[in-house]
Amino acid sequence: MRVRLVRDRYSRIRGGKSKLVRISCRKCKAVVMLYQKDGPGWLKRCYLNRIFGPERLARLQNDKTVVEPEDMPVLRCGSCRAVIGIPSRHKDNRLAFRIIRGSFIRRGVEQA
Ligand SMILES: [Zn+2]
Repeated sequence: MRVRLVRDRYSRIRGGKSKLVRISCRKCKAVVMLYQKDGPGWLKRCYLNRIFGPERLARLQNDKTVVEPEDMPVLRCGSCRAVIGIPSRHKDNRLAFRIIRGSFIRRGVEQA
C-alpha cells in the first residue's frame, strides 16, 4: 500500500524521519489504526492528522465539530472494544489520542 505521509512543521521538528506504523490491539490482535509516527522513541500519543485509517478515525481531523478533546470518542479496539487511547490536547495545541501503555502492539508498515 502507498500512503502520502504528512510533511509539516511538526514532522520537520521531529527530524523528518516519519514512518507508517500499524497499531494493533494487544488483547485480540485486531488492527486499530494506520498511523504516521514522526521521529524516534516511544509512541505516546496519536495526533488526529496522522491517522490514515480506518475511515471513522481518519475523518476526525476534518470534522468541524471536533474542536475539543471532549468532542472526540475514546479510542477503542473495533473488535473487542478494549480502550487504546484517551482524547487529549497536546501542549503544542494539537488534538491527539493519548495512547495507553501496554494496550497496543506497534509494527512498521513497508511502503511499496
Ligand atoms: Zn481488541
